[in-house]
Amino acid sequence: MTALRPETAQQMAQETDDGLGRQGPGLVGLHESIATLLASRGQWRQAYEHLRSALDLVHADQVEQPHVPEQLRREVDRLRREHAEAREQSLRDSLTDSYNRRYLDERLMDLLTEHGACRHGLAIALIDLDWFKQVNDTFGHLLGDRVLQRVVELLQQELPEDAFCARYGGEEFVLVLPRVDAVTAVAVAEAARERVERHPWDEIAPDLRVTVSAGLAYEPPAHEAPGRPAVSAEQQLLRADSLLYTAKQSGRNAVAYRADGRVRLAGRAAGRRGIAESRVLGYY
Ligand code: GH3
Ligand code: MG
Ligand code: MG
Repeated sequence: MTALRPETAQQMAQETDDGLGRQGPGLVGLHESIATLLASRGQWRQAYEHLRSALDLVHADQVEQPHVPEQLRREVDRLRREHAEAREQSLRDSLTDSYNRRYLDERLMDLLTEHGACRHGLAIALIDLDWFKQVNDTFGHLLGDRVLQRVVELLQQELPEDAFCARYGGEEFVLVLPRVDAVTAVAVAEAARERVERHPWDEIAPDLRVTVSAGLAYEPPAHEAPGRPAVSAEQQLLRADSLLYTAKQSGRNAVAYRADGRVRLAGRAAGRRGIAESRVLGYY
């Protein structure tokens, strides 16, 4: 990424006399934009200088004939682009390119606030690769990395609008499904599990087989469950984790969820016997 050159922007912003000694409101906005970008990078002194310049322009009341040099416009565009790219990169996992934990935490906070206010259902599926240590031990860590990348591609396919996949850590991923009902949430998580199971893994290595288990925690909209206390992201993740434990205990390669007060397995796995109860029962 190109280094930020605030001095250039500063200098250019100061050189915007249009030849008639006039500077305009467009310039005020540009100084503000530059200040915001610099402040977001912690370059407080330069940001302050730009804000100061904007204020001086406003106080000088020089608002006729906005004139912003092309060079300055391009510099601001470049800063904006760099800022957007840097932010996007800081929210991605470097191995799988899925969203990372930081993005997950930020989005969950927003979604839970919105969930409380907007009365939509919110589902969180915690997904863990089955016997992944064995994959590494048998086929090597590098191939294990490729498997993680492929699993993310498969998990991300056919997600509903606004849904996303984030790496929770190691070989664990989270699918966040905002604004869905309980039945759709189970169907989406089960379809993701099935895509992983059905993938032709032997194209990567003969005899390679990869499956995932998932715990799906669903928060219904408030009007469907009056009196139910609001949950935090941690609580919902804990419930998902406890359901994941159930999925593992019941033989892996399954999605566990809770409905009508009972833990169930989705799809074909529903017929399995002896489904272990979750360690953390939570509210439901
Ligand atoms: P289970 O079905 O109970 O989840 O068994 P497991 O073997 O998947 O679980 P365990 O926690 O024993 O092992 C997880 C493995 O995931 C061990 C660790 O080396 C591997 N792992 C975590 N992150 C990465 C990674 O970035 N790349 C690779 N190749 N392996 C990873
Ligand atoms: Mg794990
Ligand atoms: Mg695992």
